[in-house]
Amino acid sequence: MRQDTPFTERNARRDALHPPLKDSTVMIVGLGGGAEIAMHLLRSGVSRFHLFDFDTLEAGNLVRHSCGIKYVGKNKAAAVAEYLREYAGEGIEAFVHETSVFENHSTTRAAMAESDVLIVATDTDSSRFFLNELSIETATPAVFVSMFEKGKAGEVFAYRPGHGACFSCLMRHLGRQDMLEEYEKTAEKAQCHLARDARSMPGIGIDQSFFSALAARKALEILLEGQEHSLPNVGESWTILSLFGIPGVLDEHLSSIKQNPPSFPDCECAVP
Ligand SMILES: [Zn+2]
Repeated sequence: MRQDTPFTERNARRDALHPPLKDSTVMIVGLGGGAEIAMHLLRSGVSRFHLFDFDTLEAGNLVRHSCGIKYVGKNKAAAVAEYLREYAGEGIEAFVHETSVFENHSTTRAAMAESDVLIVATDTDSSRFFLNELSIETATPAVFVSMFEKGKAGEVFAYRPGHGACFSCLMRHLGRQDMLEEYEKTAEKAQCHLARDARSMPGIGIDQSFFSALAARKALEILLEGQEHSLPNVGESWTILSLFGIPGVLDEHLSSIKQNPPSFPDCECAVP
């Protein structure tokens, strides 16, 4: 928890609203699905955000985005910051980073180092692996969320420093080593993409909401851990939830697989 926030009128308003989370800072990378996660956390009491996205909100995104038509053409991080202020007033702090996390490593690292939890809602494996590395380095808990093609399923993974697998270990446990190898051999660490983006189709925003809500809930568990207002844990560190089935993996609709994978001993995340 940040301890250095001076008392101000702004903080008094925060106290009146949501005492348990008023001093928490959340960093969100990817303000597509991340926009909804930001709103869940704001309503829960988080009032300080670092928002990263280099992308512009387009009309086609509105089918699954919190921000409406007036934000089309704006950078997604800037749009979400404005949207959060519209909801909660000027009492919130939202630092807008209209860049890729790769562009300025020191800025990305500095924002992460002062955040209590990182949310990774990006759509490239290169950014996921890169942010995983930084979260280990800065000992920042992280929640990774992604939706599979057409919203057929989604997965949420929470990394707690010193407690089990990081994102890279999870990928090794799941046999997705190829993604890691592709990432490691990519010099610029920004060029490996996975064709897992959801398409803009009616109702896809509803399906996305399941996974955004689960990711927000995981982040809250981390932020409230050990506090009087702590939430019951909703499950294991990794959950894959199928909405309408993946043949051979999750045949039943609304079924899930949950695991607590351990660290690999040779990974940076393993406790010495
Ligand atoms: Zn690891």
